[in-house]
Amino acid sequence: MFSLETANIERAIKSAKALHPKVKMIEFGTYEVTGSTGNTYTVRCYRKAGEKIVECNCATRDEIACKHSMAAVSLHSAMAAQRGH
Ligand SMILES: [Zn+2]
Repeated sequence: MFSLETANIERAIKSAKALHPKVKMIEFGTYEVTGSTGNTYTVRCYRKAGEKIVECNCATRDEIACKHSMAAVSLHSAMAAQRGH
């Protein structure tokens, strides 16, 4: 779990772009991401105390952004924009 405001997300964005994992929306805020090895991860995006929080159930430790999260965040932002958030 990490906050989009405080985590260093640039590296994760780069590796997400390089690998472009598959992202499927389960519901708004919950996404299923297929990683490079075919594993699937569940990523949740939500706001807590004004911060944008992202949670992925892969082995990446807290405060570190992973590529799955970034793939989900890009879809989440697009969905949020469509909904007018
Ligand atoms: Zn992950």
